[in-house]
Amino acid sequence: MTERAELEVRGLTARYGAVTALDGVDIIARPGSITAVLGANGAGKTTLLRTISGLVPDAEGSVLLGGRELGRTAAETIARAGIAHVPEGRGVITELTVEENLRLGELLGTARRGFRHRLDEVYDMFPALAERRRREANSLSGGERQMLVIGRALLTAPEVLLLDEPSLGLAPRIVARIFELLRELVDTRGLTVLLVEQNARSALSIADTGFVLNLGRVVAADDAASLAADDELRHAYLGF
Ligand code: ATP
Repeated sequence: MTERAELEVRGLTARYGAVTALDGVDIIARPGSITAVLGANGAGKTTLLRTISGLVPDAEGSVLLGGRELGRTAAETIARAGIAHVPEGRGVITELTVEENLRLGELLGTARRGFRHRLDEVYDMFPALAERRRREANSLSGGERQMLVIGRALLTAPEVLLLDEPSLGLAPRIVARIFELLRELVDTRGLTVLLVEQNARSALSIADTGFVLNLGRVVAADDAASLAADDELRHAYLGF
């Protein structure tokens, strides 16, 4: 987690049959910063993350990590290059304990060395997980499950974290806490975070920069404060 890598996508285009979900998208996410990707339902946000992760076949355009083209690489190779993807919906295996779920991060990661240390770091960051480490994951609240999947992603020692709607279904207080932890993580470790959110107001409150997608195209790109202050943009695309 110490290396720093910029993530850039250029001219990304992805289709599902006749539907063009992404249409020539250019986005940059810088190390040590949170880049929000905003937009209404169906704007293409999830497809963007899936395409970066190599989960959308036949996508066109470039994905560069630290200036190096990832090309048409298998999802597993992209994960091993240092891009961790936390999909929407908290993919927790409820029959396993909290620690067993976290250990899956060891299997998925590039760096086996230092795993124990990283596990301790995750427990420091999320004390609720440490307290429940021997419990089955189905005993966790929604917020704790979100912490668990973020923790598991961090255990792969990524340079880039892709987060899809981490606030979904969580109480505002829990969202605020998770975002605060995310901010700390980025500030202390120089991680590159690409944060997809429908909750634009909350996302812009912690992000450094943001991109707004509409029908698969970037319609605005600016620093987060400027996007949040743009009344027209907020009303048209951000819903607050
Ligand atoms: P949401 O917040 O609802 O997930 P989104 O901004 O993430 O929205 P995407 O899920 O990326 O948007 O969807 C972009 C477009 O692609 C939409 O028109 C959607 O209907 C379409 N789409 C997404 N996934 C598929 C799929 N597997 N098959 C066909 N069309 C799809």
